This record gives sequence, C-alpha cells and structure tokens, in this order.
Amino acid sequence: MLVRQLFDAQTFTFTYIVADNFGSEAIIIDPVDSKVEQYMKLLKELNLKLKYVFDTHVHADHITAAGKLRELTDCITLLGAGTNAKCVSKVVKDGEKIHVGTLEFTVLETPGHTQDSYCLYTPKMVFTGDTLFVRGTGRTDFQAGNPVDQYNSIVNKLFSLPEETLVYPGHDYNGNTRSSIWEEKNFNPRLAGKSVAEFKEIMDNLNLPNPKLMDVAVPANLACGLI
Ligand code: FE
Repeated sequence: MLVRQLFDAQTFTFTYIVADNFGSEAIIIDPVDSKVEQYMKLLKELNLKLKYVFDTHVHADHITAAGKLRELTDCITLLGAGTNAKCVSKVVKDGEKIHVGTLEFTVLETPGHTQDSYCLYTPKMVFTGDTLFVRGTGRTDFQAGNPVDQYNSIVNKLFSLPEETLVYPGHDYNGNTRSSIWEEKNFNPRLAGKSVAEFKEIMDNLNLPNPKLMDVAVPANLACGLI
C-alpha cells in the first residue's frame, strides 16, 4: 500500500495520496490549491491514475484543489452528505464504501468540527480531517461546529475502531505526523478521561483567532476552489 503524506507549511495542512501501489488508481484527501503542481508531478512519477478527491469538510483555512484536479484529471470529487458545496461530483454518506484499486474505504460521518465533517477509514488507518488531531482536535467554534457532536464523533465512532489503527490528521501545528487510536484514547489531553461536559468546557474556551483565509476560503471551497 502506498501512502504519501504531504504538508502545506502555510496552513499546516496534511494532504494524503493513497493507492495500492505504483501504477494503481489513487485517491487524494484534502488537497491544497497552491500545491496542484506538486500533486500532478507526483501522480505522474508514481504512475497513479487519480480516481477520487475527498475533502473531509468545507475548509475555512485553505482553498481546496478539488476543482482544479478534476479539471486536470477528470477525477471524481467527493464531499459528505450535508455539504453546501453544490459543485461536488458526488456526495457520500455515512457507511458508504469507496473503492480505489483493491482498497476499500468506509465513509464515517463525524460532525463537530463542522456540520459536514467526515473521516475515511480503511483497515489499519483512518484519515481524520479536523475531527481528531495528534493530541488535539479541530476547533468547533464556526461553520456550525458543535463540541458535543465532536465528542460523540470521536469517542463513540473513532475510538471504537481497532486500537492499532493509525490516525492521519488533517493538520498539525506541533511537529507530529500521525498517531494511533490507542494513543489518542489514552493521551489526548482534551479527551482522555474527560466527560462530554469537560470537553465542551475546553472547546468553548479556546479563544482562537479566525483563520487568516477564512473569508476567502469558505466561499471558494463552496465552489470546489474554483473562484
Ligand atoms: Fe477545518
């Protein structure tokens, strides 16, 4: 199995290219518009046929490359049910299977960071978008975010995955790259041993500034990045 984790240093975003192997179909998760050339070069070098682009949600901090990649490769762009982005090729829902070569991904609906947040699971790994970070979580204070929903998404859904499942987050601000369900259950300071009320208290008092690109990124992403 081939997994490439790419990092956008401006927005601290992780993008993933996943495929069976060289020469197979591929999926790109959460691509950033300014990195399209890098993705296209890597796809060519690894001889990958881009089948899908999956955005884990409508992002507020960067502009998606989904629309550009669709124009360049004829791939199918995916967002979860409930999204307001009408430009998307296909809307997927909780429990739906996505096939890329011989790989099978299961769509997990995980609202909380936003009302349209989803994760993608394939055995041994889960791509968690901004639902679950390494020792952290995505914020819940805009785009209909909700800390109680996020707690339930993480604790009831993600934490029920096998503990050895590797966690590939949508962002990291502290130099981490990946984790596991077991580590986050036991060491995530917002979640380990915390009740839903304690989690809500933490999330309601983060006092984070809005993302720099928010006013540009949200409208652009509702048009799949093509504005
Ligand atoms: Fe986000």
